[in-house]
Amino acid sequence: MKEERLTVSKIRSGTVIDHIPAGKALHVLRILGITGSEGYRTAVLMNVESRKLGRKDIVKIEHKKLGEDETNLLALIAPTATINIVEGYEIVEKRRVRIPERIRRLLTCPNPTCITRSSREDVVTSFKLVSRDPVILQCEYCGTMVRGEELENLLTK
Ligand SMILES: [Zn+2]
Repeated sequence: MKEERLTVSKIRSGTVIDHIPAGKALHVLRILGITGSEGYRTAVLMNVESRKLGRKDIVKIEHKKLGEDETNLLALIAPTATINIVEGYEIVEKRRVRIPERIRRLLTCPNPTCITRSSREDVVTSFKLVSRDPVILQCEYCGTMVRGEELENLLTK
């Protein structure tokens, strides 16, 4: 466990996202809109041993302190994720992620006739959280229900 703590606290300042389900780190970066061209020094660790999860991924972003609005979106694909805000090599804030009541822009509606899919309309997608367990979201325009396991394929970014 000592080794794990070292990994987590190594950056001087920024955000460490820990306890990401193994294999989901790249989805985490997509949801956060981090492509690499922003210039943030970012470390992605995949399939690291975890006592809690067996295997897990870790994402470390230097000099970027992610707000709750941003990190809560991660709950859609990484509900076990923990957020550590680091300053001066110390964790100054630790929080869990929670799916927000409303999710705008992030997901595409699976209904091809939904107004948000029309190229002539400039309508931003908006989903309402209907149920947390199991995760069910509903498109606020056409009423289409989306289940948790479908979300990965509906990411717009
Ligand atoms: Zn829709």
